[in-house]
Amino acid sequence: MTDCIFCKIVQGEIPCARIHEDDRVLSFLDIGPINPGHALVIPKKHYATIFEMDAEDLKACIVLCQQVARAVFKATGSAGLNLLQNNFRAAGQLVEHAHFHLIPRPAHDDFLTSWPAKSYPPGEMERMLEKVKAAFSAP
Ligand code: 5GP
Ligand code: ZN
Repeated sequence: MTDCIFCKIVQGEIPCARIHEDDRVLSFLDIGPINPGHALVIPKKHYATIFEMDAEDLKACIVLCQQVARAVFKATGSAGLNLLQNNFRAAGQLVEHAHFHLIPRPAHDDFLTSWPAKSYPPGEMERMLEKVKAAFSAP
């Protein structure tokens, strides 16, 4: 993708603070960190979201996520770490090249401070389960 900023990073046209790479995947520090050490893992091939990703690229990404998470956790001495993956603008995706965030968390910061959990009205969870299972069987 000629206009994709992460493809340009993969091609070396834009510099990055590179942590690790292999044939399929690349990890580098996020230029706008939620906390210092915030890292990204991306497939080298362009996919807009996780939905299109080839299984082998996806596996390579998640394995590198674990390796980089361990490194970031150790290097920052954090109390926690979030693995976050945004798809589409409605979910906060700004860069349309699939990527995984590794966000180290001190004990108290101002990120994701609430988890606004809801509950299903009676019968709705079962109805939703049937819809999801039907979609799972016939994607
Ligand atoms: P999204 O909101 O799409 O899930 O996150 C995109 C992330 O990419 C943001 O956290 C942003 O700071 C990061 N980012 C955008 N452009 C660049 C760049 O040129 N270099 C690096 N290292 N990170 C970038
Ligand atoms: Zn791209």
